[in-house]
Amino acid sequence: MKEIFASHEFLSEVTRRGEAAGFRPRILGTVSADTGTVPILSLSRKVPGLAPRILIAAGIHGDEPAGPHTILSLLEDFKEKWEELRRFHLEIVPLINPSGFDRRQRHDASGIDPNRAFGSPSPPQEIRYLMDDYRRRRIDLFIDLHEDVDTPGFYLYELAPDTATAFGPHIISALRSAGYPINQSPTIEGMAAIDGLILRTSRSTPRFFRQGAPQGLYMKRLGTRRTLTFESPPKLPLSERVDMQRLALRTVVERFAP
Ligand SMILES: [Zn+2]
Repeated sequence: MKEIFASHEFLSEVTRRGEAAGFRPRILGTVSADTGTVPILSLSRKVPGLAPRILIAAGIHGDEPAGPHTILSLLEDFKEKWEELRRFHLEIVPLINPSGFDRRQRHDASGIDPNRAFGSPSPPQEIRYLMDDYRRRRIDLFIDLHEDVDTPGFYLYELAPDTATAFGPHIISALRSAGYPINQSPTIEGMAAIDGLILRTSRSTPRFFRQGAPQGLYMKRLGTRRTLTFESPPKLPLSERVDMQRLALRTVVERFAP
C-alpha cells in the first residue's frame, strides 16, 4: 500500500483514482496550509434512478491517516470489489483537514479542532464549506473515518433509529472474526460502551458542544437517520487499520440494502 502524508500529493492521487472509478470531483473551497493553498475536495458518483445517498468523510483530524488511506484503497478497487456500494449515490470527502494532515496534527493550522465546530456560528473555513454543501440535500447514511491514539482496539459511535437495527454489533462481530482487536472498555471517551459500540438511538438526545458539534451529530440534526464513526487503533500498522476500516465499511454497506 502506498502511504502518503502530504495533502497535495494525496489530493491529486485521490482525484486520479476517483475519476478512474467514475467519480466527479468538486472543489468546495480552498484553505491555507503550510504547503500552500489546498482545495477541500468532494467526490460524487450518482446511479440511475432513486437510491439512498451515502456520504463517507475522512481526514478531519490530521493525525489519523487511516481514514484518507481507506478512501485511496476503496477507490483503487471500487470497480472490482464494491458491488454493493455501487448501488448507491455515493459522496466522499477524502481529506477535510489538509492543513492538519500536512502537520500530522489533530487540529487544523489555525489551532481549531474541526470536529467540534459543526453548527458553530464561526466555524473554520473547511467546516464552513462542508456545512454549506451538506445542507443542500439529505444524506441517508453518513460514515466518518477516524482513529484514536488511546485505543487498544477498534470501536465505533453509532446514531441509529433503534437498537434492533443498529449496524454496530455486526461490524464488531466481523472485525473480531477477522482477528482484529476490539476496545472492550465499558467507558470510552467518557461514554458508556458495550463491546466496542457507543450507541445512541433517536430517542436519546445528542450531546452538543458549546462551540459546535462533531460531524456525526451535525448530520443527524440535518436529518440523516444513520451515522457511524469508526475509530481504529494507530498502534497497528497503517495497512491493517485500512483493512479494518474497509471491513467495517463493507459490513455496513452489505446490510444497508436499498
Ligand atoms: Zn478523529
